[in-house]
Amino acid sequence: MAGKEPEIITDKNQMRKWSRAMRSQGKTIGLVPTMGYLHEGHISLIKEAHKRTNLIVVSVYVNPGQFSPTEDLSTYPSDFHGDIQKLMAVPGGVDVVFHPHNLYDYAEGKPTGINNNGSNCENSGVGEPERKGVVSCVEERGLGHETWVRVERLEKGMCGKSRPVFFRGVATVVTKLFNIVEPDVAMFGKKDYQQWRIIQRMVRDLDFSIEVIGSDIVRDGDGLAMSSRNVHLSLEQREKALSINRSLSGAKSAAENGQVNCRELRNLVIQAVNSAGGRIDYAEIVDQETLEAVEEIQSPVVFCIAAWFGKVRLIDNLEINISK
Ligand code: AMP
Repeated sequence: MAGKEPEIITDKNQMRKWSRAMRSQGKTIGLVPTMGYLHEGHISLIKEAHKRTNLIVVSVYVNPGQFSPTEDLSTYPSDFHGDIQKLMAVPGGVDVVFHPHNLYDYAEGKPTGINNNGSNCENSGVGEPERKGVVSCVEERGLGHETWVRVERLEKGMCGKSRPVFFRGVATVVTKLFNIVEPDVAMFGKKDYQQWRIIQRMVRDLDFSIEVIGSDIVRDGDGLAMSSRNVHLSLEQREKALSINRSLSGAKSAAENGQVNCRELRNLVIQAVNSAGGRIDYAEIVDQETLEAVEEIQSPVVFCIAAWFGKVRLIDNLEINISK
């Protein structure tokens, strides 16, 4: 059922002006950052934001700064018109969709031609950019831009190992969104657990006056965590990918029944995903706050996993809240 149509703002100055006008009227603003191709996971963040603020801004921006040249920027799915329809169906609606064309400013200098690994895109040794030539790779990935926000310890493990530019790209673009939208509350999904913790830490360390909320993972009926990337899974791959949630749940039950040795629990998951035909990137049991790997579960932990099914890399996690 179609409801309120959101105002679409593409210009960052106009976005800031809108926010300041609303705040001067005493309204509170919730920000839900997304890369579009919205699903129920995103919608759940909006519903949670509605419980906390008067107005809702959803940003739709595929951030080039968080993709390395070998990653799937060029194939990241998008359907802006469909996204607006979905937002109109959300109870209470959305006030603004912030949809900037580009958030990186090259005006002051030429793109450097240097990627994050310090190597030229053309000769990076990790493969060619999927899209265009070297220069456009640099421009599109925001690399003429030279100021980056890094959350130095939390960004190192798990996704940070296999995606070395990812978290600095996320932290930088979220900083930009915070500075432009000036929200009171920002919503993040626990589906991206490390990302949520990194943003929380960044907000604390840099004194942003913003409350960061982590919201529960939304899953399809079969247990697969919703993700915009799921659209790239074949039916067969999707079936195999169910091994992720199933084995995580199995590990959680085992832990609740007394198996607290993390090597044993990790093996359960690794074997299940491998035998389903997935390729594990990482499977780690870490402290919920520090994200440090633990050997034995004695306090609340989160079991995080990333695995490839064909060309699709999926992440998922399950919190295990037992303590000794
Ligand atoms: P994305 O568009 O994938 O960058 O995600 C935007 C926000 O939605 C992030 O905070 C994600 O953690 C969150 N999100 C994505 N998928 C889910 C899900 N299945 N459940 C809950 N939150 C999600």
